[in-house]
Amino acid sequence: DPRIHGIKNRIRVVPDFPKPGIMFQDITTLLLDHKAFKDTIDLFVERYKGRNISVVAGIEARGFIFGPPIALAIGAKFVPLRKPKKLPGEVISEKYDLEYGSDCLQMHVGAVEPADQALIVDDLVATGGTLCAAINLIERVGAQVVECACVIELPDLKGREKLSGKPLYVLMESH
Ligand code: IMP
Repeated sequence: DPRIHGIKNRIRVVPDFPKPGIMFQDITTLLLDHKAFKDTIDLFVERYKGRNISVVAGIEARGFIFGPPIALAIGAKFVPLRKPKKLPGEVISEKYDLEYGSDCLQMHVGAVEPADQALIVDDLVATGGTLCAAINLIERVGAQVVECACVIELPDLKGREKLSGKPLYVLMESH
């Protein structure tokens, strides 16, 4: 799709952020360009409209930028998957491993129901640990994960293999 090139051009790569050796993919520059931001949302909406998705689950923090416009356009509800101690209601938690230490995602009990068909949205998949935790949260409440969608994949980190066969759709790869 010719729109992908324009989107890719708007993603800034920041070397050594947040620590030495990391090439940080910064999507805030994409948001500054109305056409590139709209093309990004449109590409996801074109893929997911009419597919019976009832909930878009967005991962903190950048899944909160891309998830809601997709949810509104395809007629789904939006559910935030948040870092610990942010959600005020009763939550279920899923811990996952990082390079050093661990992290956790939480979801409000009752936000996703067993009959729901979920799309999980984030900006980027690296090792796949975050998406894996999100999948587990959704499946633990009895709902189905239709697909995970990210703007960028770092394929060298093989995150795709961690998703236990769940489909992953990305707009672009970065090496
Ligand atoms: P993973 O769990 O290793 O797949 O890491 C993915 C998570 O880390 C996502 O929530 C991303 O937003 C974040 N992340 C990792 N690297 C980058 C990056 O280069 N740019 C933006 N987000 C990143």
